[in-house]
Amino acid sequence: MKIILLGAPGSGKGTLAKKISRDFEIPQISTGDLFRACVKAENELGKKVKSIMESGALVPDEVTIEIVKERLQQPDCKKGFILDGFPRTVNQAKALEKISQIDSVILVDLANEIIVERLSSRRTCPNCGEIYSVEDNPEGKCKKCNSKLIQRDDDKPETILHRLEVYERNTSPLINFYSERLFKVSSSGTPEQTYQPVKAFLEKLEAKA
Ligand code: AMP
Repeated sequence: MKIILLGAPGSGKGTLAKKISRDFEIPQISTGDLFRACVKAENELGKKVKSIMESGALVPDEVTIEIVKERLQQPDCKKGFILDGFPRTVNQAKALEKISQIDSVILVDLANEIIVERLSSRRTCPNCGEIYSVEDNPEGKCKKCNSKLIQRDDDKPETILHRLEVYERNTSPLINFYSERLFKVSSSGTPEQTYQPVKAFLEKLEAKA
């Protein structure tokens, strides 16, 4: 099963992707995570994308398409994958059509006011990528690997608004691009409430295949 998760930053794509990945045994491919790993490793690509990411702008299409192309060639993607945070432009979507055939696109929908609230309180494990909110995890320690949680630079208030503008301008046109393959879910409830309709939808999709 080859799935795209579409939605604004902070809409809950990452949390949803982890649940799908666990239950349907397909890898979550987050371009944000791939880039963050490069920044952490201080490799050439990492040096190139660090300041772009910190500003909340998009990494150029050709760079992003290349990293996804390479990742999708790995053996764990044979059975399928979940793309989380890619494509983010119509150009990327068109390039993806040439790389792979996508079964379904899930649009995670959330009002901007709630996104700003959630992103401001989001804390991330720099080691394993697990996501928490300050309210749920006031101790600031990852429950999986015990690392000290951090606030991503691009989750700071001034950058959040810029990221939302970038989404509106560059990524929201993809809703039209994929209109015939779109399954829309609201993420205003708990992560489990968001996941249930998606799970039912994917089970049906899997049964049809
Ligand atoms: P994310 O973790 O998905 O919010 O991504 C963090 C940052 O990585 C974004 O703000 C961009 O700078 C960069 N990035 C991630 N995915 C893409 C993409 N598909 N196209 C361009 N830039 C991306």
